[in-house]
Amino acid sequence: MTQTDALLRLQEVDLELIRTKRALAALPQKEKIKKIKQAAKSLSSELTKLVGARKDVQIDLDDNRATHQHMLDLVEEVSTKVSTTSDYRAIADLEAQLTHLAKRIERLDFEKAALDKDLAKLQESEAKACALGRKLQSEAQIQADAYKQATADITASITNLNEEREQLVSKLDTELLEKYNTAVQRFGGLAVEKLVGNNPSICRVSLQPSSYADIRAQNTEITTCPYCHRMLVVTDPSYNA
Ligand SMILES: [Zn+2]
Repeated sequence: MTQTDALLRLQEVDLELIRTKRALAALPQKEKIKKIKQAAKSLSSELTKLVGARKDVQIDLDDNRATHQHMLDLVEEVSTKVSTTSDYRAIADLEAQLTHLAKRIERLDFEKAALDKDLAKLQESEAKACALGRKLQSEAQIQADAYKQATADITASITNLNEEREQLVSKLDTELLEKYNTAVQRFGGLAVEKLVGNNPSICRVSLQPSSYADIRAQNTEITTCPYCHRMLVVTDPSYNA
């Protein structure tokens, strides 16, 4: 491999390295994983609220049940008194108590029905949130696996390119390499152009016959573009301007 070939290939390798590293940084899974994590986080706080609300309703239902039982006990107690009393006024008083208790029981039944409805609703929402949580978890796993695979593939390409780069660099004179490195910095990677006919391949400014004659007179394969000052490879000096 000639120095010219090594230089041209080095530029290709360096551009490929830039593209590959960019691709690594822009892997779509990264953004997807971020979004899934955000969704999982807001779902988790939603679930915490639902569980809290569900527990509150269950406590209210326990209270309702206990009060209901207490009322039934009172009804039994008062009924027993009614059956064992013959005093007319006492009986009237006890019956008023029974009417009052019946109203309380009716109210408790009404409240219980509403609480049962609330509980069913909350349990349904909680189950849905849990199912969504599981779905997000498996989606996150899929994306993480894909990210790992893609990262491994790209990292392998980068390693190969770096190895090839080392080989190419070892073939270049120090002076030429320095010139290339400076031009890479200056031109953002596009450091070397090729003369095609009398057109440099990057700046594409047609060389004037005098410039072309100068370049031919240098009798070297690697020179400098008189317009953009990139490194200019002249491999076909047969062209006649
Ligand atoms: Zn140029």
